[in-house]
Amino acid sequence: MEKSSLGFDEVKWSSLKKDLKKTVGDSAYNNWLKHLNYVSLEKDTITFSVPTKFLRDWIVNNYSDKVKTESKKYSEQIDVIKFVVKPTGGRIVPGTTRTIKSTDNHWKSTLDIRSNQQSSPNEFGAPLDPRFTFDNFVVGKPNELAFAASARVAEADKVSFNPLFLYGGVGLGKTHLMHAIGWKIKQQQPERKVIYLSAEKFMYQFVRALRYKDTSAFKEQFRSIDVLMIDDVQFISGKDNTQEEFFHTFNALIEQNKQIVISADKSPSDLDGVQDRLKSRLGCGLVADIHPTTYELRLGILIEKAQKRGVEIPPKVLEFLSHRIISNVREMEGALNRLVAHATLVGTSITVETAQVVLQDLLKSSNKKITIEEIQKKVAEHFNIRITDMHSPRRSRSVARPRQIAMYLAKSITSRSLPEIGRKFGGRDHTTVMHAVKKIEELKLQDVNFNEDIELLKRLIDS
Ligand code: ADP
Ligand code: MG
Repeated sequence: MEKSSLGFDEVKWSSLKKDLKKTVGDSAYNNWLKHLNYVSLEKDTITFSVPTKFLRDWIVNNYSDKVKTESKKYSEQIDVIKFVVKPTGGRIVPGTTRTIKSTDNHWKSTLDIRSNQQSSPNEFGAPLDPRFTFDNFVVGKPNELAFAASARVAEADKVSFNPLFLYGGVGLGKTHLMHAIGWKIKQQQPERKVIYLSAEKFMYQFVRALRYKDTSAFKEQFRSIDVLMIDDVQFISGKDNTQEEFFHTFNALIEQNKQIVISADKSPSDLDGVQDRLKSRLGCGLVADIHPTTYELRLGILIEKAQKRGVEIPPKVLEFLSHRIISNVREMEGALNRLVAHATLVGTSITVETAQVVLQDLLKSSNKKITIEEIQKKVAEHFNIRITDMHSPRRSRSVARPRQIAMYLAKSITSRSLPEIGRKFGGRDHTTVMHAVKKIEELKLQDVNFNEDIELLKRLIDS
């Protein structure tokens, strides 16, 4: 024990330890608080050390209130508790301080700069991603129900719908919403214990507990939780005893009125390999699905992400990406990152053209389904001519130009060869197609309005 003028002496410290033991009980004390060492008491701040980060987080998350109350009995002025990591026989590890402060009757926990990028992982929970907050979530028609339900769960001080079951395809924001719930609760009701983990991690923990014949400890972990969030439960399917355990844990928590949030890629009733009673249990709260994104939502998300990164991206490029990358938000974000990285490295500005080059592989994959016939149809509609004019030998400007545009689009959107394209346009020669492509490229360069018209058509065809 280190000395401090204002600090505790040996007698006070061992008496505080005895008090802690009394309040938390022998086994919790021996498992956790026994490892606590007193470092200093200065002004309003008392500092303790623990040998590992894991112990630090465990104590902060589970016992900081008790440590506070008991310490205060010895020194009223204590308002801040610090926990630092100091391996046995070693020195305090820099950057490992966790500070617990009392504000507005809530005790807020903060990590120092080095580690405050992530929330503290609990032994069996996973850390929350600081980017996934409600503020950073863009709401649109496809996700408004899921968003509203998540916000409600996060803001309510009582359990609302239980469980909240979020489902939808890959990359549509399920994990984002769960983390946002976690952050919101941490911020507004820090006394509530929130655990977020993937279903895989849940299974892993369980299997490990089985191996060490320690399932009661496994269950015990969940007892102190107020909110449990399990991500991607489709991965639980098929593993019978894990399901069984999941089911019991789940029921026990619901009975104890703890909030549960679940995500999956399918609705409860569609989960394969999941026992019926678990399915019906999962579906008995609020089931909110996230639909595939719309163009408007994708654009909204891109605008938000671009702003957050502090980069200036022309609206046309954002529109282009929202039209062309429709599979999921994650892919769209990846595209944006790649574009920005490319522009920064090469030192060029971001344009639709560079986007086309840099993102070639992504764009190709969303091209696959577009046929020459579809292009002909869209172009004919756009210029108000008949589809048959695409094949006809008529050479008047009013049909020849749209036909050339359709050929150009067929070349740039599909992976068809020039002769193949020619054949679809009434058996024309490949040189005719080549000529058309050149002509349209020239016109695009000469005439801004024409260029925009073509780009618009392209987007119409792709979406
Ligand atoms: P899921 O868990 O459904 O597969 P994620 O939550 O991991 O999807 O989302 C994938 C990425 O897309 C994340 O980076 C997330 O921030 C982003 N994202 C998804 N939906 C939105 C949205 N509505 N607003 C902002 N970002 C979103
Ligand atoms: Mg996810």
